[in-house]
Amino acid sequence: MEIVTTPDPRLRQKSTKANPGDPEIAAIIKAMKQDCLEWEKEHIHELSAAMAAPQLGANKRIIIVRNDFDNKENNEFTALLNPEVIKTDGKIITDFEGCLSVPYYYGKVPRPEKAKIKAELEDGTPVRIKADGFLARTLLHEIDHLNGVLFIDHIKDQKDAFYKMNDEGDLEPVDYDAEIKNNKDLFPDD
Ligand SMILES: [Zn+2]
Repeated sequence: MEIVTTPDPRLRQKSTKANPGDPEIAAIIKAMKQDCLEWEKEHIHELSAAMAAPQLGANKRIIIVRNDFDNKENNEFTALLNPEVIKTDGKIITDFEGCLSVPYYYGKVPRPEKAKIKAELEDGTPVRIKADGFLARTLLHEIDHLNGVLFIDHIKDQKDAFYKMNDEGDLEPVDYDAEIKNNKDLFPDD
C-alpha cells in the first residue's frame, strides 16, 4: 500500500472503529508494519517510530508503535486498536515532530508531557498505557491522525515552528512566509 500524503483528503477524515479479529484489520496492520520499514530504508537519518492506518488510506482506528525507539535494528511494532486519550498531564513541552504523510517539513509542536491511553491489542485484549516523553508525544500524534488532525495543525500560525531536513540529517528553519503560510498542500482549506 502507498503512503498517503498531504493534501489527500483521507488524512482529514475521522476513522471508524477497528474490530479485533477482523481479517481486514490484520491485513492493514501487516501492511502498516511493512510500509514503515520500507520508508525507513529510504530515509537513513530517521526512525519510523509509528504509523496510523489513515496514512495508508484505511480510515480505521489503528495505530502501530515501534517497540524500541532507540534501536533501529529492532523491527518490532505493537498495534493498538481504538486508542483513546483518557487524560493528559504535566507541562506542555515543545519538541520536533515529523510525519510520513507530511513530506519535507518538520515542526516544533507543543504537547502535554504525559498521557494516559486506553486501547485494545490486536486480539482484543484491553490495555492501558501511562506514557511520558517521546512515547506520549508519539501516541498523541498518532491518535490525532484517527481524528483527521496533523501535527502541522497545532503550529499553523507559528512563524518559527517549521523546519526542513538537510542532506546531513540536520533540521533547518524554513521561511514561513514563502513556504508555509499559503501552502495549499499543507492547508488546502485555508
Ligand atoms: Zn503522522
